[in-house]
Amino acid sequence: MADPAKTDIAANLIRKAKYAVAFTGAGISVESGILPFRGENGLWNKLDPIFLEIEYFKKMPLQSWRKIKEFFYDALSGIKPNAAHKILAKMEKRSFIEAVITQNIDHLHQEAGSQNVVELHGTYKELICTGCGTEFDMSIADLNFLPPTCLICKRVLKPNIAFFNEPIPATAKKRAFTEAEKCDILLIIGTNAEVLPAADIPVVAKKSGAKIIEINIEETHFTREITDIFLQGKATDVMKEIGRQLYL
Ligand code: NAD
Ligand code: ZN
Repeated sequence: MADPAKTDIAANLIRKAKYAVAFTGAGISVESGILPFRGENGLWNKLDPIFLEIEYFKKMPLQSWRKIKEFFYDALSGIKPNAAHKILAKMEKRSFIEAVITQNIDHLHQEAGSQNVVELHGTYKELICTGCGTEFDMSIADLNFLPPTCLICKRVLKPNIAFFNEPIPATAKKRAFTEAEKCDILLIIGTNAEVLPAADIPVVAKKSGAKIIEINIEETHFTREITDIFLQGKATDVMKEIGRQLYL
């Protein structure tokens, strides 16, 4: 359960902020039923990460796509945003936050109503051609026939998400770091952010003078290194309490 006294201090800081930004990871979507990668119930206990390696994908697109379809497209179908996504969207509408930077590829922030979302690792809702680079909405593909191919050049389409050993899209990276430099509050929710460049976002925000509020069920390396207020608890419980204090 969220500590109401600490949540009160956090809500006051958010109320007074000039430019607050949220930074989210797999933990915010756990209560929507999406597995995080690491930990006891993590995806890596069920799926070999090799299927998300860019070189493996290029060599073995059909083998990769079979797993990607099962663990992402089938698993994410029918998944809905939870209270934490919805409260963030309300906070943006009421100008308590300006942007959401997410490492998630599940598109749940937009489904909850958030408008200014930086998808640092891309989105599973789009496909990108490994040949000509054209981006398509995933609705153009029939995943009963794998691998999906480009409507223009017939080469293999890949989910528009950053695979392992693949650089993240330059535009998203630039937008994320600009938001991190601008913000005076960074609200981190449900992430270990152990990989670069995501791991640097809170560090850049802190160096630029932001206060760091962190929500997680357990401590992370941020808690020990840069967090000013740690709100321990499930994302939905803590965000409901923050929402209540902001009269959302
Ligand atoms: P992670 O799996 O490494 O860590 C998840 C974090 O969430 C942990 O710190 C955990 O303690 C916390 N957590 C778990 N349940 C929570 C809850 N109910 N409320 C609050 N916190 C909770 O995830 P990560 O740090 O985001 O990084 C892994 C990478 O995996 C990211 O790059 C992301 O792209 C990708 N990923 C995305 C999704 C998704 O789109 N939903 C799911 C899994 C992984
Ligand atoms: Zn193409």
